[in-house]
Amino acid sequence: MIFSLKLPMQGPLKYVNAYLIKDGKESLLIDTGLPTQEDIMVLNNYLREYGYPDLVVITHYHPDHMGLVRLFKDSKILIHERELSYLNYLLSDEYEREMKAFFSANGFPHELIQKLFRNRNRFHDIIEGVTFNTVRDGDIIKIADKQLKVIWTPGHTMGHICLTYEDVIFCGDHILQDVTPNVSLLKLDDNPLKGYLESLDRVKNLDVEQLYPAHGEPFKEFRLRIEEIKNHHKQRLSEILRIIKAKGRANAYEIATGISWYKKWDDLSTFDKQLAIGETLAHIKYLIEEGTIKEINSNSIYYTISS
Ligand SMILES: [Zn+2]
Repeated sequence: MIFSLKLPMQGPLKYVNAYLIKDGKESLLIDTGLPTQEDIMVLNNYLREYGYPDLVVITHYHPDHMGLVRLFKDSKILIHERELSYLNYLLSDEYEREMKAFFSANGFPHELIQKLFRNRNRFHDIIEGVTFNTVRDGDIIKIADKQLKVIWTPGHTMGHICLTYEDVIFCGDHILQDVTPNVSLLKLDDNPLKGYLESLDRVKNLDVEQLYPAHGEPFKEFRLRIEEIKNHHKQRLSEILRIIKAKGRANAYEIATGISWYKKWDDLSTFDKQLAIGETLAHIKYLIEEGTIKEINSNSIYYTISS
């Protein structure tokens, strides 16, 4: 039996789905909800009815997915090895140093950079005292006489995973119907958009019927949705090329503020700006690695079209 546990969250997504799989006496929970009093209450209500899980699998480190992991200290908690190492990096001084220097060289205003790093400490609270067990691509997680298979789908985060179970796939934030999942450059040596596009194809080619997303209702037309998402990224890549061509050379701040987001740049919230910046950098990185643009790095960084 699959139970979908709808946990409220603010913003346009409205709720995050945790999924509880129950087979006889065994049960497994996928994702946990946000670290809010409301989600703790709603989640506990569900679990009092369905039973507490033996296993908890985290699709990725974002707070709406991993936020209540501390409630499950008696369960075995699984996360992809790459996600755990990223989380350790995120909480390190090295991360702050590297990223701040990069943003600053790329023309981002000091005040904005300070704001972007303000929220990072909440992850300390989220994972305090939690012991994680790591999984890798292809790992099998048994539940009663059935099994889930770990599908590593980097892109939305570096260690994001989906899980197949019979003819369904639990997809976290990898493929969503109503919004395009954010793909951000989270570590400077990564190429997340390349990984993401490849991960989309991986899911497209799996022998599954129905997709259970972390936001929104389960749906079957996910192969169509994958094509739409790929198109979206193609268009964004072209838009960035147009901006660089028009300017001759541009830094990441000029590119980010030049893209046609759903609102004018100045009207975006800090959170939206953070997503927009990460997204811009992911596309820039993709264009560099495919050889379309190049990075000029002296004291400051800017990008030009490759000749
Ligand atoms: Zn997410």
